[in-house]
Amino acid sequence: MEKTLLLVKPDAIQRGLVGNILSRFEAKGFRISGLKMLQMSKELAADHYSHLVDKPFYPDLEKFVTKHPIVAIVVEGKEAVEVVRLIVGPTNASKAPAGTIRGDLSNSTSRNVIHASDSKETAEKEVKRFFKGNELFDYKFNVMEYLMATDE
Ligand code: UDP
Ligand code: MG
Repeated sequence: MEKTLLLVKPDAIQRGLVGNILSRFEAKGFRISGLKMLQMSKELAADHYSHLVDKPFYPDLEKFVTKHPIVAIVVEGKEAVEVVRLIVGPTNASKAPAGTIRGDLSNSTSRNVIHASDSKETAEKEVKRFFKGNELFDYKFNVMEYLMATDE
């Protein structure tokens, strides 16, 4: 199944929005394959945003994403890259439709609460950038095992 990388950005952690954000991907039916908290270094930020390092807003972006911890998540499911981007919404959260994460939770282009990989090729690279092989888990949902427990 297709995997994609999400970064819950420092503004979302500071504002206590991790649960709100994560629950949307679970509710959609994606499987969480990997999840961890880390603080990005300047080197990691420059690697991750290498296509943006020459932009005038890059110094602000680097300062922002390295200032506080983030939560990195890999989700997996049908057409994960495209569907996750739809759930996330457009970069400028002020114009993002209600119902999207950015539309509901931010009113800013720069502090837009979440990163999501923008193509299958990018997703493959970004998952590897943030997760080692043994930090990703391949498991099956087994709801009935827990809903029909036999110990009662
Ligand atoms: N960004 C910014 N100002 C801009 C454009 C982008 O601060 O004018 C930041 C913003 O945090 C955005 C990130 O740079 O999420 C990466 O930009 P990109 O164009 O890849 O947008 P995304 O893929 O996150 O929607
Ligand atoms: Mg992008």
